[in-house]
Amino acid sequence: MPVQPPHRVELARLPTPLTPLLRRSAELGNAKLWIKRDDLTGLELSGNKIRKLEYILGEAIESGCDTIVTEGAPQSNHCRATAAAAARLGLHAHLLLLGEPADEQPQGNLLLDTLFGATVHCDEQPASETAHNEIVERQLTQLRADGYSPRFTPLGASEPVGCWGYIRAAAELAVQIDAAGIDTCDIVVALSSGGTLGGLVLGKLLHRVEQYEVWGVPVSDDVATLRQRVADLCRKTIQLFNLPINFDESCLNLIDGYIGPGYAMPYEAAIKQLRAMAVAEGIVLDPVYTAKAMCAVADGIRDGRFGRDRPVVFLHSGGLFSNFAWPATVLGKVRPGEG
Ligand SMILES: *Cc1c(COP(=O)(O)O)cnc(C)c1O
Repeated sequence: MPVQPPHRVELARLPTPLTPLLRRSAELGNAKLWIKRDDLTGLELSGNKIRKLEYILGEAIESGCDTIVTEGAPQSNHCRATAAAAARLGLHAHLLLLGEPADEQPQGNLLLDTLFGATVHCDEQPASETAHNEIVERQLTQLRADGYSPRFTPLGASEPVGCWGYIRAAAELAVQIDAAGIDTCDIVVALSSGGTLGGLVLGKLLHRVEQYEVWGVPVSDDVATLRQRVADLCRKTIQLFNLPINFDESCLNLIDGYIGPGYAMPYEAAIKQLRAMAVAEGIVLDPVYTAKAMCAVADGIRDGRFGRDRPVVFLHSGGLFSNFAWPATVLGKVRPGEG
C-alpha cells in the first residue's frame, strides 16, 4: 500500500527551478555545476524551512491550533519563515530567540519577525537541555493559560512531520533531473538541524530514486553529532509514518571541514564563495549556511570529487536576509568572525 503523506498547506512556489550555473562552472575549470533554487520558495517565505512548514502548519491547523511556537538564533531564517507563514495563515507566532542579537536595532530576519507581528521572546542560550526544555514548557503553559492553543516546532522545523517537505522535494528533484537530461549527479546541501538532509535521504529511499546521491555539509556541529541527529530524525520519521524502507546510517554522506570557527561565524573562503556567486550569477548566498556549503562544493570540484564525471547540484537553501545583519562581514570590511 502506498504511503499516505500527511496534510499539507500550500505555502511554497513549487517546483523551484533547477538550472546550470554556466559562468561559475567555467570559473571552476569547466565543472558541471547546477543549482536547485530553494531560495526561491517565496520572498518572505524563502528558503528550505517553508517546505517543512507546509506540513507542520498543515497539521497544526488540522488539529485546531491557533498559535505556533518555535525557537532559533536571533537571525534564524526558520523563525522568520515561521513568522511569515503564520501571518499568511492567520496564526499567532511566538519566537524564542536564544543567544545574543548582533545589533541593538533589529536587522535582517529579526526585523522581519517584528514586522510580521510575531511575539519575540529573547533569552540567553540555555546552558543545558533541561534549561532549554523549561523555557519551551514555560512558554507553552503561559499560552495555554491565556486561552491559546499552541503547537511547538523545534529548531529548524526538524521533526518527523517536517521531514515530509524534503521527502516531497526528493521526488521533485528526480523529475527535474530526468527532464534536464542528467543521468546521475550529486546533490549538496548545508546541514544543521537535519530535516533537509534527512528528508532527502528518506525521500530517495521511499521513491526509489537512483539518479542522485545526497551530501550534507555540517555548518553548526561536528560530523559525529550531526550524523547522530539526522539518523535519529530519520528513524523517528520511519517509525511514526510506518515508512516501508530500510535505513541505516551508511545512507548518510557528510562532508567534514566547513564549520570554520563555529555556527554563524563566517570565514574568508566562505565569504569569497558568496561574493563570487553574486558577481558571476546574480545569486545571493548567505554567510551562515550556504556560503560554507558552497565552499565544500568548490573544493570538491577542485579535488575532482564533484562536478567532473557527473554534475553536482548545489541546493540553495536560502538565507538571503541574514546578509543584512552582517554587512561588514559580507562586504569583507572586517575579518570574518569579528563582524
Ligand atoms: C536552516 C537552514 C539550513 C539547514 O537546514 P537543516 O534542515 O536545518 O539542516 C540550510 N540553509 C539555510 C539557509 C537555512 O536557513
